[in-house]
Amino acid sequence: TREMNASVEEKLMLLEGMRKAFDSTQAASGIAHAPAGHFFLMYQPKVDLRTGRIFGVEALIRWRHPEHGMVPPPRFIGLAEESGLIVAIGEWVLRTACRQARLWADAGLDPLTVSVNVSARQFEEKHLVERIAVALRDTGLPPCALELEVTESLLMRDMQQAVERMRELKAMGVSLSIDDFGTGYSSLSALKSFPISTLKIDKSFVRDLAHSLDDQAIALAVISLGHRLNLRVIAEGVETGEQREFLAANECDEMQGYLFSPPVPAERITEMLQAQARR
Ligand code: C2E
Ligand code: CA
Ligand code: CA
Ligand code: CA
Repeated sequence: TREMNASVEEKLMLLEGMRKAFDSTQAASGIAHAPAGHFFLMYQPKVDLRTGRIFGVEALIRWRHPEHGMVPPPRFIGLAEESGLIVAIGEWVLRTACRQARLWADAGLDPLTVSVNVSARQFEEKHLVERIAVALRDTGLPPCALELEVTESLLMRDMQQAVERMRELKAMGVSLSIDDFGTGYSSLSALKSFPISTLKIDKSFVRDLAHSLDDQAIALAVISLGHRLNLRVIAEGVETGEQREFLAANECDEMQGYLFSPPVPAERITEMLQAQARR
């Protein structure tokens, strides 16, 4: 993979760049349009497949490098994780997303859940639950408006600890979803111990959904497994009407993908919610 081939120099360059970007992002926190060099967030709508309405958004980090332009998250998240920088970056993402969600709530728009991706290192950090409680308190966002997306592989690293953490978060009112479901290696029996509310079908199973019988079988299995466990099921990476039709016809609950909207700046979400309120 590109990450593994990256030379040591390239890694050091990226790491140095991330540290700089993080420092200037923090120094400038609060500005709407991030200049080159800063981190910023985009938000992708999550849509109810029955009503077609936006009920949530996923926050996705972006980094515009001053010389190299946009750096895709898969190129730097791994390195941020390795270096431990992800804990600070992740907390910035969390706080920024909560602050934005509070703005949407204050604007009297339809209630929205904001989903934040949590990496392994961040999830295992000792003060995670406390940090989340503080972010919610500082921004005044109700816990039920926050969802954390975690991966199966993260949860399987130390299942007992993961379950404990998740219970604390759930007790606080925060919801949890399993991202990229089907690509990790959680055992099915582990699923029932996790206090989650949503399964997210990975986009690799959605891509060829209209034509691949195998992918259809996998999607159907995840949907029925999720429903039998009383979970909601969302499909990511929905790009075509055919994919949406298949998912809707087979009772998938929610979707996310370029078909409805790519990740967009917060103001664009506000406009979409305003248009939706008029419908
Ligand atoms: P993910 O959590 O699975 O996020 C979904 C990815 O799919 C996003 O890529 C999104 O832009 C992309 N996507 C959305 N709709 C479509 C579609 O219809 N088709 C296709 N092909 N792709 C679509 P992105 O933003 O490049 O993020 C990649 C990964 O980086 C994320 O995968 C997540 O694992 C990680 N990431 C992004 N932001 C954060 C963050 O704030 N914190 C952490 N820890 N990880 C993040
Ligand atoms: Ca995600
Ligand atoms: Ca995903
Ligand atoms: Ca994925």
